[in-house]
Amino acid sequence: MAKIFGTVDIDFAHCKGCNLCVVACPTHTLALKQTEVNDRGYNYAYMAEPDTCIGCAACSLVCPDACIEVYKFIAK
Ligand code: SF4
Ligand code: SF4
Repeated sequence: MAKIFGTVDIDFAHCKGCNLCVVACPTHTLALKQTEVNDRGYNYAYMAEPDTCIGCAACSLVCPDACIEVYKFIAK
């Protein structure tokens, strides 16, 4: 059976740390940096658990600033 997995590219410089993508992710892949901020002073989103991403794009759909690109792969 084919295995589906994904990864995301987050434009952390434009992230405003609103947490919407973190909440929307069904696999708990994303989190906000707790101790680091971007140049705008926001705790930005990152892939805390990169191996769990399934490429569903829920995070990208909810991001109000279009910071997230999703890549989906199918391994046969
Ligand atoms: S693509 Fe889906 S599984 Fe991957 S980080 Fe975004 S919401 Fe989570
Ligand atoms: S939804 Fe967008 S702006 Fe909000 S924390 Fe996630 S990447 Fe950053």
